[in-house]
Amino acid sequence: MAARNRGIHALDPAQLDLVRRSRPRIEQRRAELTDRFYVALFERAPGLRTLFPVDPHGRRAPLGDTLIWLLQRLDHREELARRLADLGRDHRKHGLTGAHYESAGHALLEALAHLHGPTWAPPVAAAWAEAYAAATHDMLAAAAADRGPALGLGRVVDHHRAGADLACIVVQTLEPLPHRPGQYLSVEIPQRPGLWRSLSPTEPARPDGVLRFCVRALRHGLVSPALVAQTRVGDTWRLGPPLGRLPDVLGTRRDLLLLASGTGIAPLSALIAALDTRDDPPRTHLYVGARSETELRALVSAAPGARHRPWLTLAPVLSPTDDERPRSLVGTVFRRRSWRHHDVVVCGPPRMQKEVVGRLLAAGVPHGQIHSDPLPTSTEIQP
Ligand SMILES: Cc1cc2nc3c(=O)[nH]c(=O)nc-3n(C[C@H](O)[C@H](O)[C@H](O)COP(=O)(O)OP(=O)(O)OC[C@H]3O[C@@H](n4cnc5c(N)ncnc54)[C@H](O)[C@@H]3O)c2cc1C
Repeated sequence: MAARNRGIHALDPAQLDLVRRSRPRIEQRRAELTDRFYVALFERAPGLRTLFPVDPHGRRAPLGDTLIWLLQRLDHREELARRLADLGRDHRKHGLTGAHYESAGHALLEALAHLHGPTWAPPVAAAWAEAYAAATHDMLAAAAADRGPALGLGRVVDHHRAGADLACIVVQTLEPLPHRPGQYLSVEIPQRPGLWRSLSPTEPARPDGVLRFCVRALRHGLVSPALVAQTRVGDTWRLGPPLGRLPDVLGTRRDLLLLASGTGIAPLSALIAALDTRDDPPRTHLYVGARSETELRALVSAAPGARHRPWLTLAPVLSPTDDERPRSLVGTVFRRRSWRHHDVVVCGPPRMQKEVVGRLLAAGVPHGQIHSDPLPTSTEIQP
């Protein structure tokens, strides 16, 4: 594969256009793409099999969904480059080398060729090869530039239930992880080996290396029910490098609108605690979606940064069902104003993020003023 020493910013628009045209095909046949990819990958690099275990539903990490997420952002190259850099940094925890990326590139092209059938013409194949090489370049460059530990270990030192499906978990890391307020990291717990999930510490990094998390169990989730119900003091967690760009809002000169649903309050709690150390914290509105007063109290106590500050207005949005909450949140937030001149941070479950970000864009809030972390890759997301 022709690997050029240049990144995603240098890609030729005509080639990018060829890559973009594959999107409908990938969207329609994402599971098939993923299956083909893994077969081809394990033929080339059998040692990688343990990194991508089959989950209890018989699925592996959904490559097709990740690709779609990236394809949706081809017109936002800055955001794309940031995400690729984070992916590269995160992959350090697996100890991947350039040769592994090369094998994955060949497997991807093989899977894409299968999906395209006779339309896999040389220019399309060349455009994909270039795009993959550029993406790999950015991922490896970010991984090489990262000075923090590739993988951390932490011991659970406290775990208590904060509600029926909520838990506060405190982890003591062996070495402090240099996370910035609002960042998240992927964790692997002994009860679910090989299934990494993102969690956001609720407070800025502490010199003693203690991380606090607020976790909700999803009824049909693979990992979160175990996190909430089966975590024990003394468990050892593996922790990936800190990721995400929410800390970028810390230096903003605009007023802030912070929107959380459920445990989305966790990174906002860390951001608010950090903003409070500024001489001139911005006027900030925090809307928190929860099922009930009781749940709201539990969330705020698990995320103590969100407590009263003179510059912070906290507005609860209560709606009993998860389905209704995004609509209630959007309805309440837009009842009063348009927020076009605010920086906006959106944190919460996939549906909430999708609905709220869509509404913010429709209301004229510029894309660059909306900050949110990537969604879990197993989620259908439209820009
Ligand atoms: C950047 C980031 C930070 C996160 N921080 C936290 C945190 O601090 N605390 C926390 O509890 N969780 C957090 N999450 C969510 C967490 O990483 C897992 O996605 C969540 O716990 C579900 O994992 P699971 O294995 O139980 O469910 P899975 O088996 O992976 O997923 C089951 C289904 O639920 C959907 N889903 C995923 N997350 C949610 C959600 N939150 N609400 C509703 N449906 C969902 C998935 O798309 C999938 O369809 C964060 C996610 C991201 C991307």
